[in-house]
Amino acid sequence: MARYTGAVCRMCRREGQKLFLKGERCYSDKCSFVSRGYAPGQHGQNRKKVSEYGMQLREKQKTRRFYGVLESQFAKYFEMAEKKQGMTGPNLLIICESRLDNVVYRMGLASSRAEARQLVVHGHYTVNGKKVNVPSYLVREGDVVAVCDKSRSSDKIKAVVEANGSRPVPMWLEMNQDKLEAKIVRMPSREDIDLDVQENLIVEYYSR
Ligand code: SF4
Repeated sequence: MARYTGAVCRMCRREGQKLFLKGERCYSDKCSFVSRGYAPGQHGQNRKKVSEYGMQLREKQKTRRFYGVLESQFAKYFEMAEKKQGMTGPNLLIICESRLDNVVYRMGLASSRAEARQLVVHGHYTVNGKKVNVPSYLVREGDVVAVCDKSRSSDKIKAVVEANGSRPVPMWLEMNQDKLEAKIVRMPSREDIDLDVQENLIVEYYSR
């Protein structure tokens, strides 16, 4: 399935919550969800009874859109989550949270996950000193993610650091703002993930 190229704010309205897909705008009065917090489309304001399947589908879509993951990749993550020890739902969220583009966003080195993805593809970051340009790269405990030496002086990186450097960094990352790098001191847990989702419904969706 191709990547969605329509208006991203529609996704928040469809999922009924802010997914923070547009950086600065999401924190301002210009956020479409604030002014039109109902589903998009002609019948968006009509209340509809949602089936069990519909609820499972919405939770899956919400999570996928929050992390900007394509359908096939998300299904693979689910398979990985099932094989891991522990509960599949939280495992799935932890895998998504471990993606390099998400880590860059959490470090405050991009204003959105979409921007983080683009910056990773353009080769601005390293993992353990080696350049990695794959947004879906999954970090592990002990890894160090950093802005690569060449990119430190780039106007783009300076601008994103200036705009996002003051955003709180989650506890599982040890951020060194001077070096523009972060160590993964532990893997994230479900409690670290600020997405309001019922992950058990995603498990039910894939178990049908
Ligand atoms: Fe969602 Fe951000 Fe658009 Fe608001 S501005 S609707 S949070 S993407």
